[in-house]
Amino acid sequence: MLHGAQPPATATSDHQSAVAVIGGGIAGLTLALALRREGIDCTVFERSPEPAEVGAGLQLAPNATRLLHRLGVAEALRAVAVLPRALRMRGWDDDRPLATTALGAACRRGYGAPYYTVNRAQLHRVLWEAVGGGQVRTGHRLMGLTEGPEGVDLNFASGARHRAGVVIGADGVHSVVRAWLAGDAPVFSGSSVYRGLVPAGRLPWAADEPEVRIWPGPGRHLVCYPVSAGREISFTATVPADAAGEESWTAEGDPAELAAAYRGWNPAVTRLIGSADVVRRWPLYDRESLAGWVTSRVALLGDAAHPMLPFLAQGANQAIEDAVTLAVCLGRAAEGGAPEAFRRYQELRLPRTTLIQRGARQSTRFLHLRDQLKPGEPRRTRGTADPHGLAGLRAMGWLYGHDAEAIAAAA
Ligand SMILES: Cc1cc2nc3c(=O)[nH]c(=O)nc-3n(C[C@H](O)[C@H](O)[C@H](O)COP(=O)(O)OP(=O)(O)OC[C@H]3O[C@@H](n4cnc5c(N)ncnc54)[C@H](O)[C@@H]3O)c2cc1C
Repeated sequence: MLHGAQPPATATSDHQSAVAVIGGGIAGLTLALALRREGIDCTVFERSPEPAEVGAGLQLAPNATRLLHRLGVAEALRAVAVLPRALRMRGWDDDRPLATTALGAACRRGYGAPYYTVNRAQLHRVLWEAVGGGQVRTGHRLMGLTEGPEGVDLNFASGARHRAGVVIGADGVHSVVRAWLAGDAPVFSGSSVYRGLVPAGRLPWAADEPEVRIWPGPGRHLVCYPVSAGREISFTATVPADAAGEESWTAEGDPAELAAAYRGWNPAVTRLIGSADVVRRWPLYDRESLAGWVTSRVALLGDAAHPMLPFLAQGANQAIEDAVTLAVCLGRAAEGGAPEAFRRYQELRLPRTTLIQRGARQSTRFLHLRDQLKPGEPRRTRGTADPHGLAGLRAMGWLYGHDAEAIAAAA
């Protein structure tokens, strides 16, 4: 057993385990799968009573899909995913193509793994089924933890207690584990997103030519792509907001407010927005990067460690990279045991995720350029000279070419 992760024989809690993972989201479930491959058991504690059924779109890039494939979910993922041919920026007022990044076959050739668009609920279900229900304790909302020389004591809202040798906080942007470890709080970014899913039959132009379409515009932008094996079109529309409001996968937004926010945009955008029966509103939070994520028995993972604005579409991708890296570090921990593995994990992951967090923030300026305020005004060029998008794809090597598992194994 991993040195430093053994639960003590004298534990006074109701239950005990060597490795406890808080949060059964994308990060926590990927970690459970990756730990299993290393021969390490863990217990996942999830506050929800069952897997989240509310969907929203997610883009999965080769830096994450290569890792998911190796974890054995390639076939299940392929069955629910879409392979977009390209990512295309378009004019907010005239829908004119502005810049292209090739995806599809070119991306697979260049980076050895596909670029997928998926419904988050379906990705979550794929991971949940791969992990198997027995390993996930649902209905367990963590309220607090105490780290001692013997282990970490976990207290849940239900009154249940648990002692673990080590604890991984994969409990998202509002992480209880992070609050305990770092004492900071999420900061509202000043933007909210509306997310919608539309039956593909209502938007044949989006279904027939599977692409990630991005319309950057003055003070806001909209992204859409097919998901659910092509049966649905997902869109995310960013708007400025004064106050965060309710945050939940199920909080409904007002379609009229959304339509008003995009009034005057090109008809593809206004029709897309108008075709959704239900839109959900989601305030965007950010946090400052931390100088450290680990103690000797506790580590943060995914959004709990480095929440990022979704403008590089990398939050889940980075959570998957984290999970595989941490599992490899724990699997190879020798003398130094878990504390040494945690330090190694932090060294490998913190610089990269901090860079991507900053990049996501900087993208806001690019996506919400003010130079497009009036139709017909000259706008900045965004690579129209490369209509096939191969240069755009090559420029993503630092992100898509990263093999977190190989790097962790070599470290
Ligand atoms: C609009 C939008 C678009 C996005 N698009 C993309 C994209 O295209 N590509 C991409 O890679 N990323 C994208 N992201 C980011 C991505 O959704 C997140 O980075 C990813 O879900 C993080 O995974 P996680 O497991 O760390 O956190 P979460 O998915 O938030 O999971 C945390 C889990 O912990 C559980 N939990 C929370 N608190 C507790 C507690 N106290 N006790 C027990 N369990 C708890 C939650 O119920 C949940 O299951 C987007 C995000 C937004 C908002």
